[in-house]
Amino acid sequence: MLSTILLVSYFVGLLLTSVLLWVWFLRLGLRWAKVADVTMRRVVVATAVVITLQVAFNVLFFVVSTSTFGQSFFFQLLEPATAVIMPVAVISTVFRVRFLRAAQAWLPTLFASALTLAFALLVLRPFLFEAFVAPTNSMAPTLLGLHWRGSCPECGKPNYGTPAREGFGMTDPTRMICDGFHVTEPSDVDTLVHSADRFMVTKFLRPRRWDLAVFQYPENPTDLYVKRLIGLPGEKIHIHDGAVWVDGKRLTPPDSLQGIEYLSEFPNLFEPELWGTLDRPAVLGDNEYFVLGDFSVQSMDSRLWKQGAPGHNPFAVPESYMHGVVTHTFWPPQRLRIHR
Ligand SMILES: [Zn+2]
Repeated sequence: MLSTILLVSYFVGLLLTSVLLWVWFLRLGLRWAKVADVTMRRVVVATAVVITLQVAFNVLFFVVSTSTFGQSFFFQLLEPATAVIMPVAVISTVFRVRFLRAAQAWLPTLFASALTLAFALLVLRPFLFEAFVAPTNSMAPTLLGLHWRGSCPECGKPNYGTPAREGFGMTDPTRMICDGFHVTEPSDVDTLVHSADRFMVTKFLRPRRWDLAVFQYPENPTDLYVKRLIGLPGEKIHIHDGAVWVDGKRLTPPDSLQGIEYLSEFPNLFEPELWGTLDRPAVLGDNEYFVLGDFSVQSMDSRLWKQGAPGHNPFAVPESYMHGVVTHTFWPPQRLRIHR
């Protein structure tokens, strides 16, 4: 809840700041272009119209870019065109000046855009919030990558599987998992490929057990993974009887994970040396975390890693590799969900 309030108030604040910056630079531009009859009311009206249209266009472009149509050349051209032609046209209309004069008055507002962009790149993304696309289905049904949908033969709830052509390669790619965590062979599958979930990561929250965490993959730190945080620094983790055990005590997952079954072996895979089994428990060092995917049979997680980050256990995510906590799934709209 707190993360939602922070996220919303942050973006409202960002919007207000960019409005104020735009007003200020537009007034400069109008003076520079020697436009007559510049009243504060007109400046505010022009700014309000431009920012509203820009937000509307950005939402439209985002929606289109998540569909197949978004890859078209036409749409890629349209985006810069609306960023330039639209505001100049608005200025030209509101202040009743020719297009070129309006373009001159518009030019300084580029500084407002540059400042907003610099803030997004230097402050917003590294320290506050960042949006991601789910790369695989290893966190299904909680986070979905590109997927097929069907219905679960055991309980009838929707289930999800990785499309054959996007196959994971490790196990049968057509296995499905439902919202109640039943893992089954596909039946009644619609082979339409559905788009991946988009989710928001909050950078300043301290990760807690059961959080969805985004982190650098220890074997190749340029890759970012998203998994569920299971083991905390100093703990001894093993998986047994479908559950996670910490220092010999069975963990009870939160209600949202009712029915989840963690595996300590892969049925279709010759993998003799997994971490976090009775024989090979994962003993975490200081500043080390153990992570698992919700789709246990199709998740490449702490259990399977071979080579750790320098100076760390092979199964561990060092604290310094943590990027943040997934707080919201925000797209597509029917998948909207607050995780923390
Ligand atoms: Zn089911």
